[in-house]
Amino acid sequence: MIGILEPEISCLKGEDMSKVNRIANAWLHVEDGIIVDFGPMTNCPDLNVETRDVQGQWVMPGFVDSHTHMVFAGPRHNEYVMRLKGKTYAEIAVEGGGIINSSKRLQLMSEDELYDKSMKYAYEAIQGGTCALEIKSGYGLNVESEIKMLRVIKRMKETLPILVRSTFLGAHAIPPEYKENREAYIELIINEMLPKIAEESLADFVDVFCDEGFFSVDETNKILQAAQKYGLIPKIHGNELGITGGVQVAVANKALSVDHLEHIGEEEIACLKNSDTMPVALPGSSFFLKIPYTPARRIIDSGLPIAIASDFNPGSSPCHNLWFIWSLACLYNGMLPEEGFNALTINAAKAMGIEQQYGSITRGKKSCIIITGPFEHINEMPYWFSKNQAYKVLFK
Ligand SMILES: [Zn+2]
Repeated sequence: MIGILEPEISCLKGEDMSKVNRIANAWLHVEDGIIVDFGPMTNCPDLNVETRDVQGQWVMPGFVDSHTHMVFAGPRHNEYVMRLKGKTYAEIAVEGGGIINSSKRLQLMSEDELYDKSMKYAYEAIQGGTCALEIKSGYGLNVESEIKMLRVIKRMKETLPILVRSTFLGAHAIPPEYKENREAYIELIINEMLPKIAEESLADFVDVFCDEGFFSVDETNKILQAAQKYGLIPKIHGNELGITGGVQVAVANKALSVDHLEHIGEEEIACLKNSDTMPVALPGSSFFLKIPYTPARRIIDSGLPIAIASDFNPGSSPCHNLWFIWSLACLYNGMLPEEGFNALTINAAKAMGIEQQYGSITRGKKSCIIITGPFEHINEMPYWFSKNQAYKVLFK
């Protein structure tokens, strides 16, 4: 059994990220969806409860996917081929592809159809061991469609057997009709979308794509400040395309996490050190877009924590397999297998604000557990890249 932590540990930083506690030949007692106790078999209590023998297998905490865009109308395989033929993601976006393409399709789709499609992806992710999931809006880009997306996420929250958190990402891109009047779109977010979202309790978090060609630091700040008045906690897309101030604006607004960070300098690292904001790497989008990988090794070596997530979305990361994301993080972000494990469990839980209930095998936490096959060593988990290692996923 691996991933055992004391309740007071809310995340792992620096050198501690390579530590994974293990009990060989262990027992685990769960009751009503909560971890009651555990220990080595040499002191297993004689309880009158239903038992499951998983001898030879590994038991670990379920994964937390703290960054997804799981609600979308369809794949963007045409753009994939355009990129194979040499166009860049930015060039495709300028021609009306990218987020705007997803938005046009989503605006035309009914809420029910969108819900059915998204639930299919969610169940696939669950089979891979995902036990908590963050899902963003951001393909609506008008009041009606952003609300439609958030209602779909709310239904997923109510019906899925795992924990779902909802993020409002109205500031994902400037819709074409506001190209000449960005200010008006930001006013629409602040004066029309946010009050409606608050009225229906549709979101837990607020996100802004703060980057070159998307939203500036000032615009991001304005949106975050307005959203915080409604109790929405910030999570930021930052520094994917350049060093653009995304880290600083996230930290200034006490964001739970700042995600992407393919471009990060010493100033950004120093800023994160004085904060409680979790840096999050998204290796799936670096892989798929063939852009630089977040320098996780440098971030960890500077004493910081880091989480990793799938960024599951139709344009830049059509992959919710966190086992594969783990392999990518080891091969290309410079992480060790143990660091990848902690980045997908306890640190990912912190990036979602759920570290008190998820992310480790800890007495009193939710009994969301993955049972894998036998391994010689934890190194094997990301070594067999792209294989779903979850034999069984338990929620309670
Ligand atoms: Zn994203």
